[in-house]
Amino acid sequence: MMASKANILLVEDEENLHETLKLNLEMEGYEVSSAFNGTEALKKIANEYFDLIIMDIMLPEVDGIAVTESIRVNNNEVPILMLSAKNAGSDRVLGLKKGADDYLTKPFNLEELLLRVEKLINKNKKLQEKETIGDTYEFGNNKVDFKAQDAITWNGQHIELSKKEAMLLKLLIENKGEVVTREKILQVVWGYNVYPTTRTIDNFILSFRKYFEEDSRHPRYFHSVRGVGYKYMD
Ligand code: CA
Repeated sequence: MMASKANILLVEDEENLHETLKLNLEMEGYEVSSAFNGTEALKKIANEYFDLIIMDIMLPEVDGIAVTESIRVNNNEVPILMLSAKNAGSDRVLGLKKGADDYLTKPFNLEELLLRVEKLINKNKKLQEKETIGDTYEFGNNKVDFKAQDAITWNGQHIELSKKEAMLLKLLIENKGEVVTREKILQVVWGYNVYPTTRTIDNFILSFRKYFEEDSRHPRYFHSVRGVGYKYMD
């Protein structure tokens, strides 16, 4: 049993199969959101964080391959397990090419599906575990204490950080020199299902500049990468 429940989006239009899968996944301790067509799936993906998506290929409106393609175009790395009634190898290849991580052909063994789900979620968790920094971090003449949620800035000011500010700051610094995507920030800092607007994250970055940059209009440490995310550099 996992320490925290993983959030799964189940995209399947066959109602009986959908209910069976949902029930079994929930019995394994997963949180399951449902979509019965491609449009509904895309809408949920845009508004919620998922640890895994189980995606049927043959769906009304937008098919599973198009949904997968759209997810990857948006730089979303969520693991996708594809399901299809078709046994055609070409379908499997196309699904994997468009960004699915794994594939099962119907009818499948339920036990096998649950094992693959667990494996994909664990693999993704391991990938996301970056090397962590300590409780304090210094850059420029700023000194941050993540645990105490405060900082002494370059000009000697004492700043109290909110919990989310401290978390976002730590996340950005741990990924020094790399763009941290909006999805990643939402997942780590805001957690499941409570999504702020892009402006909320922007305001956090503006605060960081105000606290820690000597010239906040020409930031040296905190950078926005338009449409993708944010980057810390020192
Ligand atoms: Ca179907």
